Amino acid sequence: MAIADVPLADTLARPLRDLRISVTDRCQFRCTYCMPREVFGRDFVFLPREQLLTFEELTRLAAIFAGLGVRKLRLTGGEPLLRRDLDKLVAMLAAIGGIGDIALTTNGALLAGKAEALAAAGLRRVTVSLDSLDDAVFMALNDAGFPVARVLEAIAAAAAAGLAPVKVNMVVRRGVNEQSVLPMAAHFRRSGHVLRFIEYMDVGTTNGWRLDEVVPAAEIISLIGGQWPLEAAYPGEVARRYRYRDGAGEIGVIASVTQPFCRGCTRARLSADGQLYTCLFAAAGHDLRGPLRAGASDRALREQIGAIWARRADRYSERRTRHTIRTLRVKPKVEMSHIGG
Ligand code: SAM
Repeated sequence: MAIADVPLADTLARPLRDLRISVTDRCQFRCTYCMPREVFGRDFVFLPREQLLTFEELTRLAAIFAGLGVRKLRLTGGEPLLRRDLDKLVAMLAAIGGIGDIALTTNGALLAGKAEALAAAGLRRVTVSLDSLDDAVFMALNDAGFPVARVLEAIAAAAAAGLAPVKVNMVVRRGVNEQSVLPMAAHFRRSGHVLRFIEYMDVGTTNGWRLDEVVPAAEIISLIGGQWPLEAAYPGEVARRYRYRDGAGEIGVIASVTQPFCRGCTRARLSADGQLYTCLFAAAGHDLRGPLRAGASDRALREQIGAIWARRADRYSERRTRHTIRTLRVKPKVEMSHIGG
């Protein structure tokens, strides 16, 4: 039996369904929680162009992943819209059989001018990051002097191009932008867009993460629910979803720190230089670019990727939860669990 015919699952019986493709390691923002200027300063050496996977290489790998069960692709980065002609890549990926959904996560800086071409090429959904409606707070966070109004324009342009509902990601950091939670909720109520609050995560050694800067999702939900009553909606794959009882729409929380969702994680990640990561927090990736450029056949690549997934045992966030819960003094909300949802 060919490996594509075997239902692929990892050691925790999780199938491979989603692939996040980073198309560049560069970004024009220096968000303090992601690519802080102290680390990603002028001297930081980004990948030279020849080390990035080409559109042809990305498409070939995506097709192999589709053969292993991947149904959804998400383009990310760095800032994916810094990669020239991204709409051409979207069109190439959209032609792969079995891929039902192509999404993009972006800071929105270049989205307004590109939304129509991306939608026409086959992009189905877009997530735009926005951490505050207050220019002073937002600019302090993006550390690139980028104003809120331009991101709001990008969200409107994406919706006008047919990429609605737009998801809006807000990373919440204690003492930095938690005061922006209610204004953001007020702004996006009745907009048709879905605001998602993300717990501030530790992304390794680069962002100086501190547990006391995490605002637990449960606290965000009770803050918003105190103002506009909420009810739990059918959980998503990553976000826990809530509806405003007054019909003003939906919000989500991504509680990677306090309520991790490792058990339901069906996601693989491909870095811009072709390293396969089986977890956001994995310390090391698996090189696919080497064999790809050395002439490996599709079958050999498929077997390599299948074997990596079959060995996958990552539960990084879950393993940290007990410690996190103890420190934050929040109770796990098992009844709201979306594991498997
Ligand atoms: N540049 C694009 C953007 O801004 O959306 C795509 C890449 S960015 C790394 C993807 C998402 O990860 C953004 O919504 C960002 O806010 C979120 N993110 C980055 N660092 C994070 C952290 N330390 N904790 C939680 N979310 C984070």
